[in-house]
Amino acid sequence: MEKVQRYRAAPSPTGRVHIGTVRAYLPNFLLSRKNKGRNILRIEDTDQKRLVPNGVEAMVEAYSEVGIVFDEGPHVGGGFGPYIQSERLDIYKKNAEELVKKGYAYYCFCTEERLTKLRESQKTKGDRPKYDGLCRNLTEEEVKERIDRGEKYVIRMKFPQDGITMCDDLVYGKVTFKNSDIEDQVLLKSDGFPTYHLAVVVDDHLMGITTVIRGDDWLPSFPKHIKLYEYFEWELPQFAHLPMILNPDGKGKLSKRQGAFPISQILRKGYLKEAIVNYAMLSGWAPDSKDAHKDEIYTVDELIQLFDLKNVHKSSARYDQLKFDYINSKHIRRLSIDELRERVIEWAKKYVLGEFKSDSYIPAEQWETDLKEKVGKYLPKWESNVEYFKKALSLEHERITVLSEIPDGLDFFYWDEPEWTDEDWNTKNHNKKELSLAINSVLPKLDEIFKDGEFNHEEWEKVVRGYADELGWKHGDLFLAIRSATTGRLQSPPLLECYEIMGWDKVKGYVQKAIKWLNS
Ligand code: GLU
Repeated sequence: MEKVQRYRAAPSPTGRVHIGTVRAYLPNFLLSRKNKGRNILRIEDTDQKRLVPNGVEAMVEAYSEVGIVFDEGPHVGGGFGPYIQSERLDIYKKNAEELVKKGYAYYCFCTEERLTKLRESQKTKGDRPKYDGLCRNLTEEEVKERIDRGEKYVIRMKFPQDGITMCDDLVYGKVTFKNSDIEDQVLLKSDGFPTYHLAVVVDDHLMGITTVIRGDDWLPSFPKHIKLYEYFEWELPQFAHLPMILNPDGKGKLSKRQGAFPISQILRKGYLKEAIVNYAMLSGWAPDSKDAHKDEIYTVDELIQLFDLKNVHKSSARYDQLKFDYINSKHIRRLSIDELRERVIEWAKKYVLGEFKSDSYIPAEQWETDLKEKVGKYLPKWESNVEYFKKALSLEHERITVLSEIPDGLDFFYWDEPEWTDEDWNTKNHNKKELSLAINSVLPKLDEIFKDGEFNHEEWEKVVRGYADELGWKHGDLFLAIRSATTGRLQSPPLLECYEIMGWDKVKGYVQKAIKWLNS
């Protein structure tokens, strides 16, 4: 029987999930589905400074909203728990002590003060800071005596001081490290917590991970981990170090300001989960050219079929907002109008009016507060007349990039009281008085052609153009004035298509109010 492939995501519970972390954990998920394996969530909380109260729940929620499923983890259990490192301290201690027994690790009593001095003097000499191995050769008695005396200690691994360590990586191939460059890494800290290096090796082994996929920022630590497997005499899993998403300017890992926005905000803005996954996966990976889609649009099922570590790029991709927007609009276009309607209602209820667990510690942006207010106002109207909403929505279907454009885009379909500001009118060539006179006198002509509910395009054009000529106006100015009066904006979907949905009486009512507004 073939071995079950096991993959894992190992985040620190900072509670922050963004496009970079989604990109980091998607490969595990896709491969676990492709190979009918298991996807595991392990929480690396050994750095207790970085914890937030409901970080784990918030992260599980965010990943599951974009469709990443974990088959095992603190939230669902599984046969390899506990899945939170702070609940496994005795396991790390036991393993660290075992390495000491085998002669591959040692107790180190060096104080912070000594280590700081050492680093400083190495820096002044132009040497790379590295532990000098002072405690490497303490005798067993000495160690015992110092521990009994209550001295604080850490456990360090004994890394060979010469030769090389060769590491095999599915993305980078064979990578060689000079042993003398690598220091005796601390494995167990004086507070009894393991460092990442000990915990990751012990856990990946005990949890039966078959392929370790992680960011290439861990590449420099790779030889330490390979050595630990050797010291423990454990079978090596496969490793794949993946490039991370960089800032748009190419400088550094994607930062909070330049694109690492919380997934809660991205979903709230109205990016679809399929677009998030599609965009994230195309950052630093592309399928074989024979399988590639020209438009770069892939469903999750297609990505499960196509993803292969062998096509991961070695160089990092930069965050590209325009590409993300393009991918989202394409996924929106793919929905049928019924699907779009359902998605908009779900988005409004769940993401805009509803709360994400992370909302308790990620402060809301002004646009989120404004959006909530607008959606709260329109949602009952969207739901009360499904057909009307669908028709109005169909006019925006080809135009929008994100769902949050919809409340404003459709507002004039739902006005109780039309509202205008000066910016909604083009007053470059004609002032408000002139605009009011013009639409006031064109109204009866429009009433004549539309009152029986027929929206004849040719006639409409003829009437408006003819009347503009009579006034000596540019045709566009009159069309624009009518647009402002009936939609409250300078840009909108084609007017007659809107009027057909709204009905002439409603539109006529808006025009009458607009005339009053212009005169006030
Ligand atoms: N906790 C580590 C991180 O968040 C995990 C790295 C790994 O996947 O091994 O970077």
